[in-house]
Amino acid sequence: MLRDHCSLPADRALLSQPPTAGLHCKMVLQAVRRVLRKSKAKPNGKKPAAEEKKVYLQPEHTKSRITDFEFKELVVLPREIDLNEWLASNTTTFFHHVNLQYSTISEFCTGETCQTMAVCNTQYCWHDERGKKVKCTAPQYVDFVMSSVQKLVTDEDVFPTKYGREFPSSFESLVKKICKYLFHVLGHIYWAHFKETLALELHGHLNTLYVHFILFAREFNLLDPKETAVLDDLTEVLCSGPGGGGGGGDGTSSGAPGAQNHVKER
Ligand SMILES: [Zn+2]
Repeated sequence: MLRDHCSLPADRALLSQPPTAGLHCKMVLQAVRRVLRKSKAKPNGKKPAAEEKKVYLQPEHTKSRITDFEFKELVVLPREIDLNEWLASNTTTFFHHVNLQYSTISEFCTGETCQTMAVCNTQYCWHDERGKKVKCTAPQYVDFVMSSVQKLVTDEDVFPTKYGREFPSSFESLVKKICKYLFHVLGHIYWAHFKETLALELHGHLNTLYVHFILFAREFNLLDPKETAVLDDLTEVLCSGPGGGGGGGDGTSSGAPGAQNHVKER
C-alpha cells in the first residue's frame, strides 16, 4: 500500500514552487503512516471524510498560516500595471500552487476513496468541450481541470506573453472559468483530504493559498458567490480577520466557530 510516496506524479511534479520545500521523505512516510493509522475509511473506500465533521474549521487549524502578508493589499492592482496582465500573472500562479497543493495528497485521492468530485454536500460533474456532462471520479475531475487550465494558460492566443499581442475579448470570462475550477479543487482538498494535509503539516500552506486566492477573486469579482457558498463557513473564518485573515492568530475571534452550513445539492 505504501508505494512510492516520495515522488509526485509526473504530470504534477513539473512545478518548482516553494510549498513543498523542506518536505523530506522520512517526514512524508511518518505522516502517511499516521494518516493510515487514524483513517477509518473502509477498504472499499465508501464514505471517506464526508461523514465526519469539518476538521478544517477547528480554530487550532484555521489559525495556521505560512506568512503574515496582508493579502488584502497584495491583491490590489498595482499602479502602472495593466489589469489583464495582472489577472493573467496571478491566475497562472494560483493554478501552479493549487496544482502543487493537490499533488501533495493526490495519492490519497483515488477512484475508490473519491468516487465523485465532492465538496460538502455538493458534487461536481465535468462538462466536456461540447458542454456534455461527464460523470467522473474526483481524480479524473482534477485531471480534467489541470489539463484544460494548462492548455489555456499556455495558449498564446489566450494568455499572450509576447510584446504586441493582445488579450482576447473573452479573457475575463476564461479567467473566471479557471478560478471556478481552482476553487473546486481547493474545496475538495479541504473537504476530502484535510486530514492528510494536516498529517503532512501542509494546512498552513493550504490556508494561506486559500486566503490569497479568495481575496484576489473577490477583488476582481472572479467567483460567483453562489459558487463559493459551499465553503462560506471556512471563508468567513479564514478571510475576515484583519488583513484578510493573514495575521495568523485571529481565526477564533471571527465568524461563527463550528457553524454548520448546510448547502443544498446542486
Ligand atoms: Zn479526493
